[in-house]
Amino acid sequence: MDHLPIFLRIADREAVVVGGGAVAARKAELLLRCGARVTLVAPTLGRAAAELFASIATTSSPTTSSATAAHRLAHIAAEFHPAHLDAAVLAIAATDCRETNARVAEAARERRVPINVADDLEHSSFILPAIVDRSPVIVAVGSQGSAPVLARRLREQLEALLPARLGALARFAGARRVSVQRALPPSERRPFWERILGGRIGTQVLAGDESGAAAAFDADLRASRSRGPRLGEVYLIGAGPGDPDLLTLRALQCLQEADVILYDRLVSEAVLDRARREAERVFVGKHSEAGAAAQERIDALLVEYARRGLRVARLKGGDPFIFGRGGEEIATLARHGIPFTIVPGITAGLAAAAAAAVPLTQRQLAQSVTFATAQFAEDDSLDWPALARPGQTVVFYMVVAQLERIVARLREAGAPPDRPAALVERATLPGQRVMRTRLADLAAIARARRVSAPALLIIGEVAAAPEAGAIESLTTTLRGVA
Ligand code: SAH
Repeated sequence: MDHLPIFLRIADREAVVVGGGAVAARKAELLLRCGARVTLVAPTLGRAAAELFASIATTSSPTTSSATAAHRLAHIAAEFHPAHLDAAVLAIAATDCRETNARVAEAARERRVPINVADDLEHSSFILPAIVDRSPVIVAVGSQGSAPVLARRLREQLEALLPARLGALARFAGARRVSVQRALPPSERRPFWERILGGRIGTQVLAGDESGAAAAFDADLRASRSRGPRLGEVYLIGAGPGDPDLLTLRALQCLQEADVILYDRLVSEAVLDRARREAERVFVGKHSEAGAAAQERIDALLVEYARRGLRVARLKGGDPFIFGRGGEEIATLARHGIPFTIVPGITAGLAAAAAAAVPLTQRQLAQSVTFATAQFAEDDSLDWPALARPGQTVVFYMVVAQLERIVARLREAGAPPDRPAALVERATLPGQRVMRTRLADLAAIARARRVSAPALLIIGEVAAAPEAGAIESLTTTLRGVA
């Protein structure tokens, strides 16, 4: 490490940018954002610099300074002269003339003014890092000049990874630091903050519910002060169809915070790999139990873990509220007064439609979509005549054992034998298969190709979309490459 990473306070201080081109304008803008008073030194200004002046004349900066932004940007229309740096605390040389840049660097060195020369490590005393700005949180990435492109790529990855409202979370915590200091002894503050920032309250702020978070925070701090037993919390998380890249960023964040993870049969190994290593994993998708008994056991486990004060991730395939019994689980949690957060996931129906390149709605072909299951043969309350009508798309979940019944009921209700259908097995998972056919041939094809769960059925004109075949072979090629 031969550079010291620091965050320099330059609000209301003089910064000089030598140059009038686009690079100079970009640097000047960054300095202005930090509240500095910026002087551009250049005989003439290019378009970007002129635009910067124009934009600043109309908007007054919300940042630190009491002076308006318009007063903080000046232009000296002249060649560079060392005296321009007399009052500067920072200088940037960004002309396209190496000699001028070198002269600026020399003048800066003489005056002990930190200097950055654009694209010139040798003449620079400091480097501007690539930044992710979630003010007040700032992430700076640098490669000490060796690979700026790498630093920028890393910046992009961080940009995608860090919650958009991270700054709000930092402000939320900042506004409460003093009251926590007053309420708790030093040894308890750090665990308290870890729990708040990594738990439901942090998630609530990141989701934009600051007033809810504020109330929960106050209650938590009161409980912490009186050392009452603390309840844990449950994240009800949709894990998506299987491919871990289809997890939402929030699902990932919650999985990183969990102490214990309860997961179903449909949650893939690859998804579990993204969870916090130290988290205890509990498989709750056993086949052997009857549905109701299994659900009771899961409900009891959720309550038990949360009562122990743990952060419980309840991870479900697809979305928790689409044939996922999410409603039953939150009812249980609410009955026991256990706080919970719901994180939606990409439901298998959407993933299968994407895998098969079947648009679920399309002008002229389908104006509505229905997600249905025919799993419960004994108390089948589906409106089959409605499902059999043209001009719509029906997506059936849990179909493998029910295919023949689905076809028979639809046919009885008036659906024509050549109604297009797509059967999608293991959408987004290794071994994904898409079978495109028509209602009348569905059962035979499923038998011949030994379709097994998880599989899902899309019925409607959209399943015959002419471009689907072409897209399908294209996407297969892409999958092959990846
Ligand atoms: N909550 C889940 C659905 C649970 S029901 C969701 O929103 O996706 C289980 C059914 O979902 C399976 O029988 C199958 O029909 C469907 N399914 C889940 N994952 C699937 C996948 N990767 N490919 C195809 N179908 C899938």
